Amino acid sequence: MARRKIVAGNWKMNKTPSQAVELVKELIPLVKSDDVDVLFCVPAIDIVPVVEATKGTNIMVGAENMYFEDAGAYTGEISADMLVDAGVKFVILGHSERREYFHETDEELNKKVKKAFEKGLTPVLCCGETLAQRESGVTLDHIRMQIKSDLNGVSANDVASMVIAYEPIWAIGTGKTATTAQAEEVCKAIRETIAEIYDEKTAEEVRIQYGGSVNAANAAELFAQEDIDGGLVGGASLKADFGKIVNYK
Ligand code: PEP
Repeated sequence: MARRKIVAGNWKMNKTPSQAVELVKELIPLVKSDDVDVLFCVPAIDIVPVVEATKGTNIMVGAENMYFEDAGAYTGEISADMLVDAGVKFVILGHSERREYFHETDEELNKKVKKAFEKGLTPVLCCGETLAQRESGVTLDHIRMQIKSDLNGVSANDVASMVIAYEPIWAIGTGKTATTAQAEEVCKAIRETIAEIYDEKTAEEVRIQYGGSVNAANAAELFAQEDIDGGLVGGASLKADFGKIVNYK
C-alpha cells in the first residue's frame, strides 16, 4: 500500500496574524501539489485568518498544541472543540519544545491524543531523543517508550489515521540533520513498534514523518526512504523554500 506523503510546517511562535496572511499568500502558489498533503501548523492566534486565507487551496491548517479538557477554568489553554470550530484538522502534540519548556509529560500527551481523536482532530504526535540519549545508545528504547505511553488505550483505527513525527531533538533548529540512514532506522523502528502493539495493517497505514532541519536540499533523499512519509518542517516552513520541500521530487 502506498502511503500519501504529508509535509507539515511548524511555524512555532512566529508571525503575527497579518504577517501570517502575507506568508500564506506568498506560499499558496508554491505549495500546490496533487501528490502530497500540505499542512500549515500555526500559532493559535493565526488559525482563524490562516483558515480564511487558505480556503479553496490544497493547504490544510493545524494547531501546534491543545489542552485535554473540554472547557472550563484553564486560563490560556485552547480546547479541541475550539480548534475544530475554527476549521483545524490536525494538531501537533508532544513537540520536544513543549515537552522541554512546558514540561509536558507522556501521561498528559496520552490524554491529549485521546481527546484529539474524540473530537475528530488528527494528531501529529512527536517523539525523539536527546543527543545524550543517542550517544548512550538508548534512542530506540526511548522512542518505543514514548510511543507506547502516548498511544496507551488508543484504537488501531485511530492510530492508522494519525501522523507520527520522529524528530531527534539534537537536529531541531540546529542545522544538523540526521543522516538518511539514522532517520530511516528510527522511522522503521516506530513502524515496527506500531506493528507490535497493534498489527501489520495499522503499521502499514500510519504515516511517519521525519523532522529536524529538513530543507530544500535534503528533503528528496529523506522522503525517498521506505518508512519516511514526509516531514515536519520548522525554520524552512517560513520561507519560499517550503514550496521546494513540498515539491521535492
Ligand atoms: C520542528 O520545529 O519541528 C523542526 C523540525 O524544526 P527545524 O526544521 O527548524 O529543525
